[in-house]
Amino acid sequence: MSTRKVNIIGAGISGLSLGCYLQMNGYETQIFEKHNIPGGLCTSWEKSGYTFDGCAHWILGSDTGSSFYKVWNELIDMRKVQWVNHDIRMFIEVKNNRDKYGSNTFRFYTNLDKLQDYLIDIAPEDEQEIRAFIKPMRIIQKFDMPPIMDELPLIPSIIRGVKMARYAEFLFWFLKLLGQTNYTFAQKLKNPFLKESFEMLYDGEEVNLLVIYFPMASFDKKSAGYPLGGSLKFAERFEQRYLELGGKIHYHTPVHKILTENGVAKALEVRHGKIHPSDLTISCADWYLTTFELLEGRFVNKAMLDLKEGRSLEVFFSVMQVSFGINKDLSHLPHLTRYPLQQPIVSPDGTTYDRMEVHIYNYDPAMAPEGKSSVIVSFYTKNREFWIDHRKNNRAEYRRIKADFAEKVLQQLDQRLGGIRQFVEVTDVATPATILRYTGNWKGSAQGLMAGKNFLAPVPIKFKFPGLKNFYYASHWNRPSGGLPIAIMSGRQLAQMICKEDGKRFTVSKDW
Ligand SMILES: Cc1cc2nc3c(=O)[nH]c(=O)nc-3n(C[C@H](O)[C@H](O)[C@H](O)COP(=O)(O)OP(=O)(O)OC[C@H]3O[C@@H](n4cnc5c(N)ncnc54)[C@H](O)[C@@H]3O)c2cc1C
Repeated sequence: MSTRKVNIIGAGISGLSLGCYLQMNGYETQIFEKHNIPGGLCTSWEKSGYTFDGCAHWILGSDTGSSFYKVWNELIDMRKVQWVNHDIRMFIEVKNNRDKYGSNTFRFYTNLDKLQDYLIDIAPEDEQEIRAFIKPMRIIQKFDMPPIMDELPLIPSIIRGVKMARYAEFLFWFLKLLGQTNYTFAQKLKNPFLKESFEMLYDGEEVNLLVIYFPMASFDKKSAGYPLGGSLKFAERFEQRYLELGGKIHYHTPVHKILTENGVAKALEVRHGKIHPSDLTISCADWYLTTFELLEGRFVNKAMLDLKEGRSLEVFFSVMQVSFGINKDLSHLPHLTRYPLQQPIVSPDGTTYDRMEVHIYNYDPAMAPEGKSSVIVSFYTKNREFWIDHRKNNRAEYRRIKADFAEKVLQQLDQRLGGIRQFVEVTDVATPATILRYTGNWKGSAQGLMAGKNFLAPVPIKFKFPGLKNFYYASHWNRPSGGLPIAIMSGRQLAQMICKEDGKRFTVSKDW
């Protein structure tokens, strides 16, 4: 078979990963990216010497303790990335209760033994429940779960059978935990401080315990770290590998249309009406844009329409990120704290925030000049259309309300950090409209679809679209909760699938 030409839309982590794997397997790929940098949502930006990060708080598989490590290491030399592993994932201050030492701060330790000892110390009456909370994380750690699961169909059936048997214990716990959330767990607790802390783990949201367990199992193994240098630097490593493998990236080249003929994808139409034909077309850009704009809604089924109309899975929150460059050394402060506000902040979009999450990047020297600090305050919002519509319809007003919101946040921060106002050199506000503008993600979603309580809900966004040949789709929208590991796995799995369909053995090549 002659070398197949593949057009890929989007140089986010999905597109770059997919591109790398296809290049390794003898395909000739090129990526069309609307922005002038790689990474998509995996990004950071610079302003007057400060760098503000828009993504990686933690990356699953950052060390050998998780099987995701093997996958990352297929694409980039992981030994070259320096990772930060925090002792405490987050300090969570609660409003109504104190622990036995009089503290209102819950310490979410990343080391499971330490976490267990801490929890039992502050709530001995809940020891049994605490041990039951920790145990599944230990079980998860015994299994090299997600990537190996993906390999299973590809290995001989006897070996597969033996491997599957090993998963019985995992499956037992997995099923047992399916309906359990931080709320249901909190209800079992007697200690009022601990109860409130667990309810507040996700800012008052009810989240399946599995959403907590998988990352925690990795935090404990120091395998959910933060890459020093930030998200854009991390993404650039994938760009570099893709280029080394012979891939080609067209930056500043938004795709306007996927051209089809009789139900077969044929080419991409980019700016200035330029047409790029290919044997295969793959979109790694936003699912809504791909389905309803680039393909004009012609290749859909009921499940996809239900999603579009809000009748099935919920879209992940969008983010309001207010970043400050502060000419003050804040290295002595905890890196991440969530705390209740004396007076709630009412966002222009109508959301009331009675808690604030303050992230001080004092552990990454790349984020601020020496002696200065990059501080990011993030809020989730579901009222994304407000920001998107304002930016579209009234740019001046949009700027005004952004500044207004930043001022409210600064007032709170000033109180909290003890007078920082006069040291603020840079203020930057990113809204759902910013996310949409720079990455195209539908409704400014930060991670595709929400897992929430529906951890295992079927996702209607598949690798193939109904009625369309020679076309595939892969991105963080393929699985609830999204995230960087899902992005890389989507790319990898799709490359495997394409190789299989073409009768090729999927191979991975690297020289480290
Ligand atoms: C605030 C925040 C914090 C996060 N924190 C974490 C974290 O700690 N850990 C973690 O694992 N994940 C985190 N994530 C999620 C993670 O960033 C995403 O899940 C992941 O980067 C998605 O990658 P992707 O390639 O699938 O999609 P995207 O990054 O959206 O990539 C799509 C690409 O397609 C391009 N594109 C769109 N339209 C077009 C077009 N018409 N033509 C050409 N190109 C186009 C976009 O510009 C973009 O580059 C976070 C996200 C946010 C917003």
